[in-house]
Amino acid sequence: MRLKNFVGGRFTDAKSGKSLPNFEPAAGREHSRVPDSDARDVDAAVRAAAAAFPAWAATPATERSRLLREIARAIEERLPRLARAESIDTGKPVSVAAAVDIPRAASNFAFFADAATQFSTECHATDDLAVNYTLRRPLGVVGCISPWNLPLYLLSWKIAPALAMGNTVVAKPSEVTPMTAYLLSKLCADILPPGVLNIVHGTGPKAGAALVSHPQVKAVSFTGSTRVGAEIARVCAPALRKVSLELGGKNPTIVFADCDFDKTVAETARAAFSNQGQICLCGSRVLVQRPIYEEFKRALVERARALRLGDPLKAGIEQGAVVSRQHLAKIEGCVELARREGGAVLCGGKRARVPGRCAKGWFYEPTLIEGLGPACRANQEEIFGPVATLLPFDDDDKALALANGTRYGLAASVWTRDLSRAHRFGARLEAGLVWINCWMLRDLRTPFGGVKDSGLGREGGHEALRFFSEARNVCVKL
Ligand code: NAD
Repeated sequence: MRLKNFVGGRFTDAKSGKSLPNFEPAAGREHSRVPDSDARDVDAAVRAAAAAFPAWAATPATERSRLLREIARAIEERLPRLARAESIDTGKPVSVAAAVDIPRAASNFAFFADAATQFSTECHATDDLAVNYTLRRPLGVVGCISPWNLPLYLLSWKIAPALAMGNTVVAKPSEVTPMTAYLLSKLCADILPPGVLNIVHGTGPKAGAALVSHPQVKAVSFTGSTRVGAEIARVCAPALRKVSLELGGKNPTIVFADCDFDKTVAETARAAFSNQGQICLCGSRVLVQRPIYEEFKRALVERARALRLGDPLKAGIEQGAVVSRQHLAKIEGCVELARREGGAVLCGGKRARVPGRCAKGWFYEPTLIEGLGPACRANQEEIFGPVATLLPFDDDDKALALANGTRYGLAASVWTRDLSRAHRFGARLEAGLVWINCWMLRDLRTPFGGVKDSGLGREGGHEALRFFSEARNVCVKL
């Protein structure tokens, strides 16, 4: 299968005529080709988006809302096909794609379809001298760049608010998992006016970099690694281009002795190993209060060993493949380093073999490691695979110091029955998202994003609509 760019309502190859291989991780083989686009393709897409902007910005919010809702409906109608495509492209279990990725992509469009008509702006009365009101205008052409771990879900999380607010979009999905973005462009071709949404495939250094530096792009919304996010900020700063950066994490799961033990074990395992640990929100550092450390460790290891790993297209599979050969090698390298740093591997710690059609697939066993100091690289650097470390702690202050002791600050979860402690941690954790007695419970209205090296700015609800618009204050003297 040959995927195409979607530019000005038409499907095109890269102008260079070149394409890149796209792999099925579970089978370890190429399954399609994706355009290897460069600055010329990006320029054509930006021009198409710029030409479509005036009419789209002038389209009534009710009509934009109706079209976004149609996209949501079209995604829902194609759920089984999209879920299968996402599973083949990423290696994640098809059950996960069908229960999480695709329904949430539809929800993103439905949510911002509502938001387009529900959003309101502020009014400030200056005593009885004047009234100020705020107008919010779309920015123009915006760039949306997304990673490989939740391909359609994260792409739609950017595209939907940008379109709802009246912007036109050039999107650059990850070259590692381009399939559902291509399928989205196919269904949007029948719904959106030409040029409103453009999707250009290709690598980050070529297509992504050209998008970020294009003079007509007014804002860039990026989700991906901290390294690339910092590079994008560097490119956008001199052009005074708006950026929103959702970056890496090294999230703590903080388990107190007074937690609901069984529920906490189950959710800690889910937080560590969902999507093979390849979610930015995954809890990859498990901090456990000393009185229950040994018992919790035993239960968590048992849980990790029980996870059913195998062909992601089969029913009942909980762990699929990791996304690429290179990523598998990176995970192996991180675990080797953890061993050299003195870590004890409690379970996993090696590639998994899946017989049959997946014999050449890229699988790694769910892995738990203990005995590493907080400064070790396995406790500091994002591995982004099915690997979590365990660390004991004695009291609240120590738990807080360990939790906050990395350069990242995306998410944290706290497991305790002590209400005061829960609120104290909510206030003191250095993280953009704190979950108390839950993990990854999402409300699309809430601000989403990280502090420290985990990002800049917030997505979600009104935050996203504010990012994708420019405020203008109008002051009327009474
Ligand atoms: P990545 O940074 O390598 O790539 C992300 C996207 O950026 C891809 O589309 C890539 O092609 C593009 N890109 C690469 N170099 C570029 C450049 N110079 N200019 C413009 N675009 C460029 O990240 P990845 O490996 O695809 O994804 C994994 C990372 O994403 C992890 O660090 C993970 O934590 C992070 N992530 C963060 C969130 C969040 O919400 N904070 C969510 C999911 C993933």
